[in-house]
Amino acid sequence: MQVKISNIIVECVKGDIAAQHGFTAIVNAANAQLKRGGGVSGAIHRAAGPGLEEECKLLAPIKPGEAVITGGYNLPNRYVIHCLGPVYGVDKPEDKILADCYRNALRLAEKHQIDSIAFPAISTGVFNYPVEEAAEVAFKTVMELIPELKYVKRIRFVLHSEKDLKIHERALTQIIRRQNTSQNRV
Ligand code: ADP
Repeated sequence: MQVKISNIIVECVKGDIAAQHGFTAIVNAANAQLKRGGGVSGAIHRAAGPGLEEECKLLAPIKPGEAVITGGYNLPNRYVIHCLGPVYGVDKPEDKILADCYRNALRLAEKHQIDSIAFPAISTGVFNYPVEEAAEVAFKTVMELIPELKYVKRIRFVLHSEKDLKIHERALTQIIRRQNTSQNRV
């Protein structure tokens, strides 16, 4: 699924975040120490090679909601933006911290004049954030940020399962419908 909002493409695909050819940056659902873990971070570090972990050592630890940037090493991407999502039920308020991740990642992308960025569903794996809720926060934050984006022209959400893809497609459709309704009311 793909939509265009103010000349920016927002899309959802099923796939592997570590295999996003044609994207200048990908986002890592990192841990505080920026170490190779499981899930997204495992896939990214495996594909990037040891250089990524070396660079990450210089930037760790990071706080929930924070985003930092490194090179992409053997990945097909020039940059990796590492975000630490909230652990659901532990880091509160979860929605604000998750929104910080998407906001800080997009602002960092702008700072580096990045044109295309691919996100995983941050916090929805071992950090236990319910996918429906997380998708709503993610798209709401992206919509809020769109007016300030000058360089980013393409934003992709890479979901690991058909189920998560469907949930994200539904959330994106709903948010656009809601926006159109409120615009028509003005
Ligand atoms: P977190 O610790 O932030 O919860 P995880 O890496 O455990 O991060 O999971 C985040 C989401 O990414 C989950 O929905 C998980 O299914 C999904 N995921 C796992 N591996 C990949 C991958 N290689 N590419 C894209 N998404 C992935």
